[in-house]
Amino acid sequence: AAKSEGRGRYQMYVPVLGEALIKRQQLAEALRLALETAQGLALWYQPIMDISGTKMRGIEALLRWQHPTLGPVSPADFIPVAEETGLIIPLGDWVLQQACGMAKNCPHLRMSVNVSPLQFLAGNFIERLREIVQQAGVDPKQIELEITEGVMLEDHQQALRTIQTLRSAGFRIALDDFGTGYSSLNYLTQFPVDTLKIDRSFIQLLGIQEQADTIVSSVIKLGHSLGLSVTAEGVETEQQRQALSAAGCDKLQGFLLSRPQPAEVLFAGHAV
Ligand code: C2E
Ligand code: MG
Ligand code: MG
Ligand code: MG
Repeated sequence: AAKSEGRGRYQMYVPVLGEALIKRQQLAEALRLALETAQGLALWYQPIMDISGTKMRGIEALLRWQHPTLGPVSPADFIPVAEETGLIIPLGDWVLQQACGMAKNCPHLRMSVNVSPLQFLAGNFIERLREIVQQAGVDPKQIELEITEGVMLEDHQQALRTIQTLRSAGFRIALDDFGTGYSSLNYLTQFPVDTLKIDRSFIQLLGIQEQADTIVSSVIKLGHSLGLSVTAEGVETEQQRQALSAAGCDKLQGFLLSRPQPAEVLFAGHAV
């Protein structure tokens, strides 16, 4: 009891969320309430730029949650909770609805949306997505769904079927965080995706660790040999941008170009 009391007191002085400081169940309840009342949840958008860093090629929707007492909670903390509790399904639908609404407002920008493995592999995902897109009045061609290697490890056959169906409906598929999962390169040849997103952890080491330069340029070549577009995630320096440009990378995303921002802020500075 003393221990939990101590923890409770400590929590009052810690403004940010520590996983150990709050019960996941409480977090899940607060998230459920946020979703029910549509309060505290928002999508922010981060530009995806061409290799010169000057032209916006698309935007990625990133979910933000402002907890009533904890303040902003990172998706890295609450997405796993949403997955564990099944909340990821209604939350994922909400994200898709918002993102498709925004896509409708910017018809010449591709909209990238993160989809969790659980959501992607749910039996009725395709139907729900079709309905959301139809209601928003957007062309599936404008929407790119970002999935991770985890999708393929979870249920290989279901993942393959879903990817094929979605692509024939016009949606694009991106493989996010590429290089961080356990799947072999072999998977890549089997899964017909459109875009590879090289994880930030590799980009950070460009110009610092020789192997990183080799890995990144090999992944870009591999992607191109499979007919994929390659995006670098987490580009923070001009030096990294130049290295990626020299290696033939197609698109860039990262703080060097723009941080994720609310749509009003993002579009105040750019012509849409
Ligand atoms: P992700 O999809 O790989 O998104 C990229 C993450 O890197 C974002 O973090 C973004 O803010 C951050 N980032 C972008 N550029 C830079 C940079 O130059 N430097 C650094 N240090 N970071 C950068 P965020 O928004 O915290 O999201 C984390 C992860 O949470 C996302 O990774 C994604 O996996 C997940 N996530 C976010 N929104 C959603 C959502 O709507 N649905 C689902 N299922 N997952 C989401
Ligand atoms: Mg992503
Ligand atoms: Mg990523
Ligand atoms: Mg990620």
